[in-house]
Amino acid sequence: MSAHRLVLATRNKGKIEECRRILEEIAPDSIELLGLEQFPDMQDVEETGSSFQENSLLKARAICKETGLPALADDSGICIDALGGAPGIFSARWSGVHGDDKANIAKVLTQLDGLAPEKRGAHFTCVTSFVTPDGFELTQEGILRGYILNEPIGTLGFGYDPIFVPEGLTSSFAQMQAGEKDAISHRGKSLRAIAPQVAVRLRTLG
Ligand code: IMP
Repeated sequence: MSAHRLVLATRNKGKIEECRRILEEIAPDSIELLGLEQFPDMQDVEETGSSFQENSLLKARAICKETGLPALADDSGICIDALGGAPGIFSARWSGVHGDDKANIAKVLTQLDGLAPEKRGAHFTCVTSFVTPDGFELTQEGILRGYILNEPIGTLGFGYDPIFVPEGLTSSFAQMQAGEKDAISHRGKSLRAIAPQVAVRLRTLG
């Protein structure tokens, strides 16, 4: 039997490999995962939703429609207790410039300046959505609690990794190797939660 094709809504090679590893553990040799680089004409989907769930569904629906294939998409961000859950869905552009990690971190640190350690709680959220051409839709959330440091530590990872320490640990995400982070991350959690149902559904599509 040939592998079922599934499109992942990203051009990020790291994300594709992480997702491939998780799907392979759950459904060995049965899913062929394609990244968006294999669909060069596909436009970026605008994240106009008001929640992680809405944005991840918007992306999965658009990619499923455009490619005619089952699609998986995620949306993620950091939610800080003292900021009422912000930056949340605005994490990538919190400083005003999309994807400027340094400026985003600087803004958060300024906003939390002087706050005691016990008031620096935060969590990363990731919602992964799966949509198939016959209209089936499913979403799964992954959350990782932790706290925000007073200053960046570590050089690995991306985004807010240098200022986030997962609950119960002492190293920031930016001090962890990719495998260590994947094992506990919000993204790993939501992917591992959705993967068994994705595998079952793909099998029923034939
Ligand atoms: P996206 O879901 O890949 O668009 O990520 C949204 C934004 O949330 C990123 O640009 C980062 O600023 C932040 N973010 C999401 N996940 C992580 C993570 O694992 N580490 C650090 N920052 C993250």
